[in-house]
Amino acid sequence: MNNFSIAIHGGAGTLVKGMMTAKLEARYKHDLKAALDEGYTILEDGGTAIEAVEIAVKVLEDSSLFNAGKGSVFTATESHEMDASIMDGKTLNAGAVSLITGIKNPVSLSRDIMEKSEHVFLAGEGAMQFAKELGYKIEDASYFYDEFRHNQWLEIKGTDSFQLDHATKKDSKFGTVGAVACDQEGNIAAATSTGGMTNKKWGRVGDSPMIGAGNYANNKTCAISCTGSGEFFIRGVVAYDVACLMEHKNMSLQAASDEVINNRILEIGGDGGLIAVDAKGNIAMPFNTEGMYRASKTSKGEAVIAIYK
Ligand code: ASP
Repeated sequence: MNNFSIAIHGGAGTLVKGMMTAKLEARYKHDLKAALDEGYTILEDGGTAIEAVEIAVKVLEDSSLFNAGKGSVFTATESHEMDASIMDGKTLNAGAVSLITGIKNPVSLSRDIMEKSEHVFLAGEGAMQFAKELGYKIEDASYFYDEFRHNQWLEIKGTDSFQLDHATKKDSKFGTVGAVACDQEGNIAAATSTGGMTNKKWGRVGDSPMIGAGNYANNKTCAISCTGSGEFFIRGVVAYDVACLMEHKNMSLQAASDEVINNRILEIGGDGGLIAVDAKGNIAMPFNTEGMYRASKTSKGEAVIAIYK
């Protein structure tokens, strides 16, 4: 049996310790642990890495604390436009979706695109039509309403500014979510889901649904889920860049992840972090911001639930 492991994140950013109440910190850790445990149980029972990352991301999407699914931020038109992706490192199959509304679990739709369509990436109205044909329930806008999120949006409503959830004011919450896992067979997978940026417009799409930028998995190298300033992560092709350093420069998972997050992406002005596993069950979780909501667990019994450096 291969060592198995899982890592999850709930976004990276300007997380300042003094701004967080003990109660809120406990809630974040509770929801991170719930997602981690669900994913880990799948792996422990012999399930696949794909199943584990989907279930872990679903738990985070169902939490209003994170900027994905239920907790998604508001767009310029007071709606929610969500993006998600998933990739199977064994087959290199992938599914991605962007600009969808009313879907409770965008990560599951990305998996259905991977498994039930001929395509990799569906967007907007067409993606919604695909979801409806598969029988997805379309949730009312009230399901996604959160007072904190709404206030965040009201502050910049009508302006040309938009706000990255993780780079915003010091008391803000942060939150794209993701999971990476290595199963007992040594297969790895990655999934990422987000509501994007507060007050975004013009059909803005970040790195989260882009295979190679915010999400990537290949058994030969690594499975990666990113969080950070999406425009920079797209230009840095961050997730694939980690895999390239491992494949072509023979770097370890930790060294390649550190190089991309602490050097390459910083050089072009990007901030954020990523979670990574390889097919031996190793884990890396580097970030160049003050914090990153993160958790991990391995079959060797190592477990982490952390927010700050
Ligand atoms: N990377 C995401 C985006 O640009 C945001 C985040 O990680 O919070 O849409």
